Amino acid sequence: MPIAYNHLETLVHPGRIVENWRKLEARGGHAYAVVKADAYGHGLREVARALAAAGAHTLCAGTVEESVSIRGMGYEGCVVSLLGPQLDEDFAAAIRQRIVPFIADAEQLKRLDAEAASLNVVQPISIKIDTGMGRLGFRAEDAQAVADLLDGLSHVKVAGVSSHLASADMPQDRAAVEAQNARFCDAVQVLRSRGHEFEANLANSAALLAYPEMHHDAQRPGLALYGCNPFWGTEQAALGSDLVPAMDVRSRIYQTHGLRAGETVSYGRTFTAQRDMRIAVIAAGYADNYMRAMSGVGAVCVRGRRAPILGRVCMQMTAVDVTDIPDATRGDDVWLLGGPDQCAVRAEEFADWCGTISYEILCLLGQNPRRYA
Ligand SMILES: *Cc1c(COP(=O)(O)O)cnc(C)c1O
Repeated sequence: MPIAYNHLETLVHPGRIVENWRKLEARGGHAYAVVKADAYGHGLREVARALAAAGAHTLCAGTVEESVSIRGMGYEGCVVSLLGPQLDEDFAAAIRQRIVPFIADAEQLKRLDAEAASLNVVQPISIKIDTGMGRLGFRAEDAQAVADLLDGLSHVKVAGVSSHLASADMPQDRAAVEAQNARFCDAVQVLRSRGHEFEANLANSAALLAYPEMHHDAQRPGLALYGCNPFWGTEQAALGSDLVPAMDVRSRIYQTHGLRAGETVSYGRTFTAQRDMRIAVIAAGYADNYMRAMSGVGAVCVRGRRAPILGRVCMQMTAVDVTDIPDATRGDDVWLLGGPDQCAVRAEEFADWCGTISYEILCLLGQNPRRYA
């Protein structure tokens, strides 16, 4: 159990992640659960445990360590897929632990086959196709060459064929998303025609919600599992409006005091009071991954109301405006993320304030001491 220093803690609700997974499974038909990056900051083991108990059939990890950690928990019926890149030295562990790695190039495929041969097993793999992300993968138009290569290898078996979409969460980018899907369909068809049987999977959260025609055999939602809406702020926001956030970050008020008109707050004196005010100093700063980019733009939730951040976020403290929340006092709970319904801070909103995406907010705030509801 981590020690809650600085009175700041991250509260995770695994039941809500399960609820989201069920909703996605109902829409997609066969939703893998992406639990990479410590389950987007929610805690790999706790989230994997809740999802496996709820019947999740495939858990997608980001690193070999994460995959091994899930395998160590049991769940014999559950497939552990490794989305992230691997180096050659990772193969032995992947094979021994029955992890299904994404394989993205010919060298890797040959090395894995050799390693599996030396251990005398047939290793299931997922072939990763680059259809437009420009990151990792075999080029879609090389599918015949991939099939030729596979013909010469006897210790790997294609269990999945995957590709990743670059802009499914951008409604205005439909043409590019459809082009990626078309390339994926071609590659899938080539590999099927060459005798491979596998689960084709392309959709991330956004595509699961917005492109039913891209559901293929399975989908790989991550963000939506954790209750964030990939279409927040777009005309398609309704698509993800039923997802429930699963992370709250709570801290406390250290002190409240008055600020006279003309006085300034915090480093750099970036905020000057235009009137007499009352401020609260809260236990949260950039050392808690409460981003300094929130300086002067974000807000927290105190006693069911929003309190705007004043001036610069410091290393372990931040000043907020409680002029209009007169009963706010030392020791009060302060919600940096989540909180009571009427003023809950959404990760998407938080991300907009500091110029990033909700993914990054969850990964960073999830690094604080966590408690489970
Ligand atoms: C992270 C990841 C996902 C999940 O994406 P979301 O946008 O969070 O749904 C799916 N597939 C791959 C390969 C990923 O790396």
